[in-house]
This record gives sequence, structure tokens and C-alpha cells, in this order.
Amino acid sequence: MVADFSLLPPVNAILAERAAKEAEAEFGHSATVDAIRATLADERILIKAGRTPRTSAVLAMMALERLEVDAQSTMRAVFNLTGTILHTNFGRAQLPEAAIQNAVNAMRNAVSLEYDLESGERGERDDHLRELICELTGAEDATLVNNNAAAVLLVLNTLAGKQGESIISRGELIEIGGAFRMPDIMESAGCKLVEVGTTNRTHLADYEKAINEETALLLKVHTSNYRIEGFSSAVTTKELAALAATRHIPLMEDLGSGTLVNLVTFGLPYEPTVQDVIKAGADIVTFSGDKLLGGVQAGFIIGKQELIARVNKNPMKRSLRVDKVRLAALEAVLRAYRNEEKRNTAIPTLRYLSRNQSDIAHQAADLCAKISEFFQPAYHVEICPCNSQVGSGAMPMETLPSYGISVSPVDPTNSLTELAYRLRQLPKPVIGRMHANRLVFDLRCLDDTNGFVNNLDKLS
Ligand SMILES: *Cc1c(COP(=O)(O)O)cnc(C)c1O
Repeated sequence: MVADFSLLPPVNAILAERAAKEAEAEFGHSATVDAIRATLADERILIKAGRTPRTSAVLAMMALERLEVDAQSTMRAVFNLTGTILHTNFGRAQLPEAAIQNAVNAMRNAVSLEYDLESGERGERDDHLRELICELTGAEDATLVNNNAAAVLLVLNTLAGKQGESIISRGELIEIGGAFRMPDIMESAGCKLVEVGTTNRTHLADYEKAINEETALLLKVHTSNYRIEGFSSAVTTKELAALAATRHIPLMEDLGSGTLVNLVTFGLPYEPTVQDVIKAGADIVTFSGDKLLGGVQAGFIIGKQELIARVNKNPMKRSLRVDKVRLAALEAVLRAYRNEEKRNTAIPTLRYLSRNQSDIAHQAADLCAKISEFFQPAYHVEICPCNSQVGSGAMPMETLPSYGISVSPVDPTNSLTELAYRLRQLPKPVIGRMHANRLVFDLRCLDDTNGFVNNLDKLS
């Protein structure tokens, strides 16, 4: 059979259809023409295979759909039911409502970012957060940069940039995700790395012996994402601070996650809070804005006034500064910390960390009854205990007891890959955790139970 293209409507005929007019109004003339041409190209292939051409109205509709699909953001809201609270792949912390409002206000309006409304003169962008940070952490002064990696780079470059010897324990030469390796960062910052101690044990005397006239900095790094167990020891901030003070060398501590709340309150082991480290005498401390703090991507640099002033004078600072939207969001996050009764509900990261297992179990029972039908008869759906984790390299060995819903194939030879794919194609993709031919939805981070059920209704 010879393909008959004569019945295929021309571009102009399709352009005259209502759906095409709608497409032109929304996406512009040339994009609409391109979409019609692409639709016609697909149609020709089908006609060659023996299909009768569709009408111009239908083809216009198809072109419109093509444009609509293409216009969808590729960064979609998802249900993160992996059980990892701060998942780097899902953008780490979610923001408190007050922070969202503040960020939206800064996006929509001209704001007094670097403008002093009292005097009518130029102000400083750091001023909006400095007092709050100092109040919450006990530090003398503070500034902010793009992220904690930038904070570490900037402080190292400022205090030890011209081949200044920077002493660090061999047990703290860490690599964290995304190619952040302490020795490489130190080299990029222009420091001379001086390793002391051993992988598992470093003593105060090791630091003492390494200090000479070329020493610019003592550096302590929080080993966020791994732990050395057994015969191990590290020197505390307090001991190092005393040594640094007598030798007139600054002590810098990279805290990584940097929590303001004692993690013991969430049933996790104790880790020094930002306040603890400042109190113990660290001269300059860096930490992330979007890890345990629960804010946006940012790097906090806090500590002695004189050192922060030097950081601010470094020309690199300008390249690493934070924009108004993130500053606005962070300001509201920090304000939320002031209210100790409310912060565990207002700040999503703290809310997820503080949810107890029986609360999550209730939610699981309720949800299991509502969603079983979507998976039957091919899958078993049941409630199961599971373990959540903090994520983003924080507390890698610790888990928080949680509850979830487990979905497993009735026929054990069936794989879950296809179901996981269909769940990712939902209007709001659902991401669970695969484990031993079970797909587990950890409910610790699920706020919107009804939204989750309604979304599953669209499962193909
Ligand atoms: C996460 C982390 C960093 C990097 O922080 P970002 O905000 O991701 O740039 C640096 N140091 C330590 C110890 C960390 O845990």
C-alpha cells in the first residue's frame, strides 16, 4: 500500500483551529508552528504505517499538548518518602512557611537589602541577620556566603591564604559528597596543609609540636559522614582553643551541619551545637544553612569580630555573597528559632526530626486503609516499622525509628521496577525506598496525607 499524505491537513489549516489559537496565545506563534510541524512529522510516520490521518482539530490539540508538556518545570515537587530527611538529591531542607512568605516578598518587591531606612543611606546586606545569628549562637559577629564549602574556602584563604601553615588532624581530612575534599579545598585556598596525629588518634601534643612561626591556623573539621570507632581519640575544641589562645593562632572549626538544637532532644546522640563550639572557644566557625538548621543553601561564618572583619575585606567575599531571596528566607528561619515552644512544629526539618514513632504509626494505619486499593490485586500493602535517617552526611550511623507502608509483589518473581517507574510519573512523583523486593514509603516526612491519597488516584 502506498501512503497517502494528501489527506494530511496543511500547517495553516491546523493554525486556524481553536486549540492552535490557544497555543499561540500561551506560547507564541513560532513555537506553535514548530509544535505543529513536529506533530505532522509524527503523523506522517503513522500514515506510512497505514493509519488514516487525523483531523486538523485533533492535530492542533496534539500540538497544544506537546507545548504544555514541554513547558512543565523539570524541577518537580516530589513526595520524599525515602526516610532520609535532608536528601541532597531532593534539595535538602524544606522551609518554614514564614521563610517562604519572606522570600516571596523579596522576590516580588524592591527591598531594603543594602539600605538603612533610618538614615536613608547605604546599609549592609549582612545587617539583617547579624544580630539574630549572634543572639542565637553567642558569637561576636557573623557573615554569610553561598554555601558552607564557600565559607570554608573563604576563611582558609583569608586566614592562611599565602601558604600559611594550617594544622589539621589526619583523622579529619574528610571527603564529603560532591567532590569536597579537605586537602583539595585547602590547596585551592592557598594554604599549606600540615597533617598531625594518625587516622584514629590525635593528641594535643601533636598540634603543639607542629606549631612554628609559619603557623597561620589550627583547623578542626567535623567528620560528618563517617566515624572512627574503637581505639580512637580526638582533641576537643576547648583544648585546642586554649592552645590556640596561648600561641596567638586562630582556631577555625568547620562544623558541617551545625545544629542550634541539642540533638539529644530528638533521641539522637549528642553532637556539639554551634553555641557549644563558640562557648568552647573556637575563634571562627562555619556551617551550612540547609542541613540541620533547616534553611536555604548558605554558609555561615561566625566568630570573633576582628576575624570576620578580615573575611569581609577579602575580595573573594564579593563572588560568594548571598542574594536577597535567600537572606530573606534565612532571616525568617532564624526568627523561628527564637520561639522554643513552636520551632519544632514551625521548622519542617525539626518537625520531621522530632516526630515520634507512635504518631507516625497512626498515620501509617490510616493511610494503609486508604491506599491499599490502588495497588491490589498485584501487590501486598502493609504497615511496617522502618528507620529514617538525617541525611546530608549528618549522623551517618544513627537512625530514627519510624513507620512506613510496604508494597511488595504478590508474585515474588515480579519486579518492583515498573511500579517504581509509574510512581515517578504521577503528577507529584512518589519516591520510596527499595529494600529486598519491597518498596517502603517511610511516612516521617509526609505532611499532606490527603494529597498523597488523591495523587495515587492517578496511578496508571
Ligand atoms: C556538608 C559539609 C560541608 C559543605 O557544606 P555545603 O553547605 O554543602 O557546601 C563542609 N564541611 C562539612 C564537614 C560538611 O559536613
